[in-house]
Amino acid sequence: MAKAQGFETSSISRLDQTKVSQYFGCNTFSERTMRDRLQKDVHKAYRQALKRGEALPLEVAKSVALAMKEWALEQGCTHFTHWFLPMTGATAEKHDAFITWDDEPGQVIERFSGSQLIQGEPDASSFPSGGLRATFEARGYTAWDPASPAFIMEGPLGKTLCIPTAFVGYHGEALDHKVPLLRSMGALSRNAKEALLHFGVRTESVVAQCGPEQEYFAVDLELAQQRPDLMFANRTLQGAKPPKGQELEDHYFGSIKERVLGFMQDVVLECFKLGIPAKTRHNEVAPNQFEIAPIYEAANLASDHNQLLMEILKAVGERHGLAILLHEKPFAGVNGSGKHVNWSLATDEGHNLLEPGKTPEENLQFLYFLCATLKAIHTHGGLLRAAIASAGNDHRLGANEAPPAIMSAFLGAQLNHILDAIEKGDVVDVSMQHLIDLGIGNLPRIEKDATDRNRTSPFAFTGNKFEFRAVGSSQPIALPLTVINAAVAEALDSLNTRLEAELKAGKESKAAVLSVVRQAIIETKAIRFEGNNYSDEWKIEAERRGLPHAKDTVSALHVWENPASKAVFSRPGILSEGELEARLHIRHEQYQKAIAIETQVLRQMAETQILPSITADLGARADSLGKLTALGIAVPETLQQALQAQTTLAGEAMARLSAMKVALAAAEAIEDNHARTEAFGNQVNQSKHALREVLDHLEEACDADLWPLPKYWQLLSPLV
Ligand code: ADP
Ligand code: MG
Repeated sequence: MAKAQGFETSSISRLDQTKVSQYFGCNTFSERTMRDRLQKDVHKAYRQALKRGEALPLEVAKSVALAMKEWALEQGCTHFTHWFLPMTGATAEKHDAFITWDDEPGQVIERFSGSQLIQGEPDASSFPSGGLRATFEARGYTAWDPASPAFIMEGPLGKTLCIPTAFVGYHGEALDHKVPLLRSMGALSRNAKEALLHFGVRTESVVAQCGPEQEYFAVDLELAQQRPDLMFANRTLQGAKPPKGQELEDHYFGSIKERVLGFMQDVVLECFKLGIPAKTRHNEVAPNQFEIAPIYEAANLASDHNQLLMEILKAVGERHGLAILLHEKPFAGVNGSGKHVNWSLATDEGHNLLEPGKTPEENLQFLYFLCATLKAIHTHGGLLRAAIASAGNDHRLGANEAPPAIMSAFLGAQLNHILDAIEKGDVVDVSMQHLIDLGIGNLPRIEKDATDRNRTSPFAFTGNKFEFRAVGSSQPIALPLTVINAAVAEALDSLNTRLEAELKAGKESKAAVLSVVRQAIIETKAIRFEGNNYSDEWKIEAERRGLPHAKDTVSALHVWENPASKAVFSRPGILSEGELEARLHIRHEQYQKAIAIETQVLRQMAETQILPSITADLGARADSLGKLTALGIAVPETLQQALQAQTTLAGEAMARLSAMKVALAAAEAIEDNHARTEAFGNQVNQSKHALREVLDHLEEACDADLWPLPKYWQLLSPLV
């Protein structure tokens, strides 16, 4: 498990007495701090660049850097770092001290220039580029994202000023997750603004907003450290089922035990200091599973904050003697963890475009954006599926605990009824009380859906936002957000074009919108599904409807190579074909690497821990039986049979271990990237699974005192 940054505890008791509003964001160079510390014209220039999404002029950057340095030094920072999100999925930092030589020999002064603020130059050669960067061009550049405030990371050994940055190559190629996210937000804003003009709404920008709900497991750190699988692969690779699983269902929303509550309080405190609006915390379905959710923010901020939150969870967990598991499936047979990515669109005044309106006119605009989102899911369901494909999420999707790998959208009974009525050309349906307003131009009035939501849907409309529920708990949300933004931007572009054609043909404006909406409703009908997504009937029905169903990462990744998938990124300049190819390459590599590590760890556990223990157990039992025989005591046949059976099973484990090694070596020898992914996903995974099956049986019959690993029931016992 990666060693996370440490966070300071000393100030906690003081802050606990204080109102959150008084210290929220105190460790960030926030809007308020900037307003106080920057000259008026500098602050104005900064705000303007931000609003227009433009780069900061160097003169402005100089003044901001100076103020930022002074603030950071006052707070006790000694170093600064550009903080970025390379394609590894983890965050990266390269720390520099705030010092430079002074005129006086041997003396240093604290210095931090404008150019150091807006641009850094870490050696990029050790970050994955998917072949985008030749070694002679190993330089990479990091550039400040002024929309994301600089923050102070507190560690036991001091404080560091972190500057959230984008990471690009020598020719401007995106080498991180932030650059495409920002570009996709730009494309979406452009097309949404254009759409809004048809409704008489002018806005400087339209912002994609996101609130990610983060699930995780907490287990006792001392126990976790005795399991190489948890330490190196973040999940258990072996483990017999506990006598009491989650079948009692007493954990969800249950009272939070004191030890966990203490941990959660510290997590929330660290979040508040960093300006992360952590809002809700509760137990989840499985034992020792929990969730934390923030108030929603602009998607790029939400992405940075979720990345920071994952680091905070791990670091604070360690302080409380807890190992925090962010993996999608840490325990076989126990519900896994996801990250519900809630997504909506808002004008710069904060008007949510997915919120049903008060008047029929507003609702027409709402329906337009709703249908654009449906069209996006309909056209690019396969791509959305690919965006969340990973070795970890493969264990979860479609396993009757998480939405299936088939993308569909749930709208709720009321909205469905309205869309059906519009489709029939029958907007006025008097039997639908309070939905249809007969008064104004036969346009529907929509009220917030009061019905319970469908928890099995991968993409559910929940009143004023969509909830993408199939995202994995450990993955950065930047990629799924980029795909949603890109797909909706494309769909809006297409609806806008149709609308303009209708208007040109002389149609009255409301009628024209209704006609475009109706066409989109008809086209996207196949992805609307209100039933149980976990059922087998849905799989059959989805196939009949022609919806893509990629069961695992191996099949999901193929979609990236479709011309339609490439175009949704390349046309609006979100990712060029070269950048896309590089990303695909890295996705393959990461998938292979994850499975290779699991295989190596399982091999080592079987060879050096489990099988030696089994042999010791067999030996001890054989000794005992021998002693009984020596005393002339008849050993019942059943005892001998049990020993024989366990011995045979140990032999089977050895055979399966050998088979797994062969499968791993064969996969690693494959040159072709795609073929190698297939071998890892199929043969290697199957061989791992086969070995695990026997090891789990061996565990069930082995002397518990000799068993070398903490068992499932220990790991999943209440944390007291
Ligand atoms: P629910 O009960 O539907 O899960 P919550 O209000 O608890 O709703 O929200 C769950 C998550 O959705 C939170 O992280 C929240 O910030 C986020 N969220 C709420 N409204 C929006 C919105 N308009 N856009 C994006 N995310 C949102
Ligand atoms: Mg939710």
